[in-house]
Amino acid sequence: MRQLPGLVKGLGVTFRTMTKRAVTTQYPRQKEAPTARARGVIALKEENCTVCMLCARECPDWCIYIEGHKTKAPPRRPGGRPRSVNLLDRFDIDYALCMYCGICVEVCPFDALFWSPEFEYSEPRIADLLHDMERLGEWMETVPEPPPLEAGAQAGKK
Ligand code: SF4
Ligand code: SF4
Repeated sequence: MRQLPGLVKGLGVTFRTMTKRAVTTQYPRQKEAPTARARGVIALKEENCTVCMLCARECPDWCIYIEGHKTKAPPRRPGGRPRSVNLLDRFDIDYALCMYCGICVEVCPFDALFWSPEFEYSEPRIADLLHDMERLGEWMETVPEPPPLEAGAQAGKK
């Protein structure tokens, strides 16, 4: 009987909470719009990647797999020598291992990796969380436009 006041008080809290509106988003019936800079998924702009491997070396989880080969490209000026360039053969990110730290996006010196706020890519099979070059490239369509430059700022060279 000594527990009765506590029980009544607890039930009071339960009933009060039941009649309040839920503060959580009832996913997947309701969808919350993620913020523009949310870390949802990493997108690859393949044409910017020089296969420098910096992102794969810096990734703390070792979940970026890159393979490439060298090829000859036409000279920059007429009469010049053909240039040696790297081409991507494979670029995979394993989202089963990724911890969304963003180091790969930060260290890429050639603007080849971007954050997209897209987050709906769960899979029933863990192996399907390995996104290949094509899939990472498709995420580029979901990368938001960068915010306008602040007054007085100069656009960087691309
Ligand atoms: S976000 Fe972090 S853990 Fe994920 S791939 Fe990039 S560096 Fe690796
Ligand atoms: S750091 Fe950038 S350019 Fe270098 S391999 Fe990674 S994505 Fe490609």
